[in-house]
Amino acid sequence: MPDNKPRELVLVGSGHTHIQVLKAFGEIPPPDCHLTVIVDTPIAIYSGMVPGFVAGQYRAEELQIDARPLAELAHAEVIVAKALSIDPEKKQIELEGHPPVPYDLASFNIGSTVIGLDLPGIREYSLPTRPIAGLVGQVDELIIRAGRHASGSPFRVVVVGGGAGGVELAFTLQSRLTQETSTNIDLTLVTNGPEILTGYPRSMIKRVYRNAKRRQITIVCQREVVAARADEVVFRNGETLASDALIWVAGPVSHPLFTESRLPVDHRGFVRVRSTLQFENHDDLFAVGDCATFIDYPDTPKAGVYAVREGPIITANLRAALQGQPLTKYKPQGDFLMLINLGGGTAIGSKWGFSFEGRWVMNWKDRIDRAFMRLFQIPPVA
Ligand SMILES: Cc1cc2nc3c(=O)[nH]c(=O)nc-3n(C[C@H](O)[C@H](O)[C@H](O)COP(=O)(O)OP(=O)(O)OC[C@H]3O[C@@H](n4cnc5c(N)ncnc54)[C@H](O)[C@@H]3O)c2cc1C
Repeated sequence: MPDNKPRELVLVGSGHTHIQVLKAFGEIPPPDCHLTVIVDTPIAIYSGMVPGFVAGQYRAEELQIDARPLAELAHAEVIVAKALSIDPEKKQIELEGHPPVPYDLASFNIGSTVIGLDLPGIREYSLPTRPIAGLVGQVDELIIRAGRHASGSPFRVVVVGGGAGGVELAFTLQSRLTQETSTNIDLTLVTNGPEILTGYPRSMIKRVYRNAKRRQITIVCQREVVAARADEVVFRNGETLASDALIWVAGPVSHPLFTESRLPVDHRGFVRVRSTLQFENHDDLFAVGDCATFIDYPDTPKAGVYAVREGPIITANLRAALQGQPLTKYKPQGDFLMLINLGGGTAIGSKWGFSFEGRWVMNWKDRIDRAFMRLFQIPPVA
């Protein structure tokens, strides 16, 4: 007797890639399957607009994508619970406070967390950028605190992390604090690397330094923060730097889920995937976005642009896997348009080694980001 039971397809996380799968499955349903979406929180945040939110350009709602109406369109069951581990033998996903969910095929788009959160005082005294909704929720509080700071002494902000996120947050915070408070702001961007924006075009890095000088943002390289206290950060060499507010953007590391499930991972705990987006050694498990590291392209940056580009590939591959058809291979693009919001309505961009800046660059970034959001911000189905 043939088994006519629909296959169980489970999507874990509703990041930049899975929202595209849901949208596509809402338009053309996948073949004969029962679809489940597991999310720790149903509201996903579009990271590309977070610096704009910090700068005061956008309201919080403008960065939010609710996975529930998208899931409803795709006739998917939504489970709001954190996924804790995967049992590939029993073919089930273990959840926090919810019975395990069985799968025939499962795909993971759970993003990343920030490295160093367990260092002394970091969780207690810093504003971490992951989960990103936490950052969004606490920015206004920070602005109020800076506004109330006693006049006479500067309000000292330390941003730790020299990647694009750290640079954007340093500039956009400085811009917002200067615009909305009369407090004297002293902002320092700290990185443990020899340089900020490692791997970015030289001309773009020079533009960042020029703008930092103009805005009186101090950039400190080769200093590793190893602890935080209420009013200072401590460097590995024992020196300290006074801080009234600490923003922690120290770089991505994986959620523990893959390591705890004893699946093949890279040195940061991200699951290793083939070009088909399938886990190494597991044909029924897929991963996309930050949480996956390509075996063939291990240096691909953890950036939202890749998560977005993987959307059509994972959609096609999940359909194909359900039908037992061959899968498409994904090759991350070598170069992409990089846009860094500097706050105050300006941005720096680079592509093919060239860089450029101005209000027009910010307007361009705004148009790209809003167009993306319009695709996914849909009202609940009546
Ligand atoms: C300040 C800042 C600015 C940035 N700006 C840019 C930019 O301009 N351009 C760019 O390309 N990149 C940018 N990045 C990087 C970008 O944020 C990430 O690369 C991107 O978010 C990765 O997308 P994702 O879909 O993999 O994961 P995410 O967007 O993080 O989505 C993961 C989802 O999974 C859910 N989830 C997590 N764990 C679980 C679990 N255990 N169970 C169930 N659900 C779970 C989360 O709630 C979340 O909704 C920025 C990062 C930061 C910190």
